[in-house]
Amino acid sequence: MSDTPSRSNLAALDAAHHLHPFADMRKLNAEGARVIQRGEGVYIFDADGRKYLDGFAGLWCVNIGYGRSEIADAVARQMNELPYYNTFFGTTTTPATLLAEKVCAHAGPQFNHAFFTNSGSEANDTWFRMARVYWAAVGKPTKKVVIARRNGYHGSTVAGASMGGMKYMHEQGDLPIAGIVHIGQPYWYAEGGDLSPEEFGLKIARELEEKIDELGEDNVAAFIAEPVQGAGGVIIPPSTYWPEIARICKARNILLVSDEVICGFGRLGSWFGHQHFGVEPDLAPIAKGLSSGYLPIGGVLVSDRIADVLINEVGEFNHGFTYSGHPVCAAAALENLRIIEEERLVERVRDDIGPYFAKAWGSLADHDMVGEAVSVGLMGALQLAADKSTRRRFEKPDAIGSAVRNHALANGLVLRATGDRMLASPPLIISHEEVDTMVRIARQALDAVW
Ligand code: PLP
Repeated sequence: MSDTPSRSNLAALDAAHHLHPFADMRKLNAEGARVIQRGEGVYIFDADGRKYLDGFAGLWCVNIGYGRSEIADAVARQMNELPYYNTFFGTTTTPATLLAEKVCAHAGPQFNHAFFTNSGSEANDTWFRMARVYWAAVGKPTKKVVIARRNGYHGSTVAGASMGGMKYMHEQGDLPIAGIVHIGQPYWYAEGGDLSPEEFGLKIARELEEKIDELGEDNVAAFIAEPVQGAGGVIIPPSTYWPEIARICKARNILLVSDEVICGFGRLGSWFGHQHFGVEPDLAPIAKGLSSGYLPIGGVLVSDRIADVLINEVGEFNHGFTYSGHPVCAAAALENLRIIEEERLVERVRDDIGPYFAKAWGSLADHDMVGEAVSVGLMGALQLAADKSTRRRFEKPDAIGSAVRNHALANGLVLRATGDRMLASPPLIISHEEVDTMVRIARQALDAVW
């Protein structure tokens, strides 16, 4: 390893040559990027030898934890046997086909086909085109508009960022593109006013119906939402929200798209988020937990309603990526799913560690600075509040969230801050003791900043 650059040389090289996604580059270059070198279980280690409990599973993705040599072995075997072949023009590979079968087996009964991509963003671009092709093929070519949600996140490609409801993304590059509109989000704490969560859930869901009326049913292709809004702040919808959304989509003949990129593969204690909320989407983009982030792979679960038309009416869907169903990435994903099944991680989140986390994380609600401490499965949020009795927010939410995050980080815990919401999403293998450690460090950070 004599040619490995020293820590300071690496920081200089990084500042000189590496543009990072979603990072304030001026600040990053001044401070130097933290170099993460190794991972094991729920822990990551940086180049200075510091150890952190990764309460965020990388970017909501390392569901089986770090350092699983079974995946490295499966990848090495596939690399040696067949490092690449495409799935265009009449060929497939064994891992791609097996993965399509396996992933559908865990989704709702309407899903029997999968289309593979390299990422969640590409998955969203894929279904966006697929939905228009579908409607044109069934004789409704005007059904093109996609309705999405304010503060949702669906990726960084042009269509993905447009469907996302992040203003700071739209401001760069003149987004959203035509044909994508947004309605409200079921964020009761901030926007619910005097309504009960249940009343508010219905009110926000009915914005979908109002938007369909405004646009005309014949012009609307689909509605997309995350089962639980992740990057937007772990916004867990009131119980009335999803059933009403599903009812409206069905009544108005609008495709329902459940973005499962975060909520899929056990995060909520179900294989997919739509199962947790008891709804049956027509399309479901997936990524992240599909391979636990060990290699990049995503896809779209396609329901029979759409697959039948694509296969029997359309024939050729002129869309795909050189690496769609990449055999090495698919082999990693297959091994990841084998581990999730064998270790019963989905059931573990549902019956054991999820309820344990709910209690431990929920205990932070007694802190003066915490307006609500909520979770579902292993996905949690703390709403920071200047005055919890009135739900008054801090004047500088970003600054307060960053301060809590930085304090936790300095004490060995990775949390994420989205404005004044602290987010947690640890690996599904986290132990009870490690959950206690997360909560203890989070509380210390709150105490320090309050
Ligand atoms: N959809 C959701 C719900 C996500 O959270 C993300 C990424 O965080 C994406 C899509 C985009 O996935 P990717 O970053 O793999 O392109």
